[in-house]
Amino acid sequence: MPVSDCISIKQMFRNCELAGCFNSKSPFVFTILSPFLSVLFAETKMASGHCLCGQFKFEAEGDPRWVAYCHCASCRRHTASPVSCFVNLNLTQLRFSGERSIYASSPGVRRSFCATCGTPLAYETAERPGEIDLYINVFDHPEAFIPQKHVFYAEHIAWFDVQDDLPRE
Ligand SMILES: [Zn+2]
Ligand SMILES: [Zn+2]
Repeated sequence: MPVSDCISIKQMFRNCELAGCFNSKSPFVFTILSPFLSVLFAETKMASGHCLCGQFKFEAEGDPRWVAYCHCASCRRHTASPVSCFVNLNLTQLRFSGERSIYASSPGVRRSFCATCGTPLAYETAERPGEIDLYINVFDHPEAFIPQKHVFYAEHIAWFDVQDDLPRE
């Protein structure tokens, strides 16, 4: 179900509740529906993002599985940055619009970028089917995601370090 439809159903139930559809005159209906209502009323976390030119856009629903810095040379090269940072999600949590170009940097690996402006977008690997690692900086609010660890720290640039106590793998 599109997220917007889900929101309108929530609103419909809210309006109905405000209008008294679930008042004491219909306790049976309310009792039956209340578990479903609590699910519908639970706030769904939403995030959005786009590439530099705006050709590629996405919306993400729910929490990421993990957020991590990657120090590997391939990610650094793809992002032209001393370190990259990924937000890992299930593909089912995302809705894309626009065109992604794909570069297979190694067997089973798909690195994507905007076909127009070249913004690096994501990393996907056949080893983790159904998942996508979006670069944190394509989100509209990257500050909403807190990194939990560093990976490929052995490849980090010697002069680059962040002052945190996160695990380094
Ligand atoms: Zn673009
Ligand atoms: Zn990497």
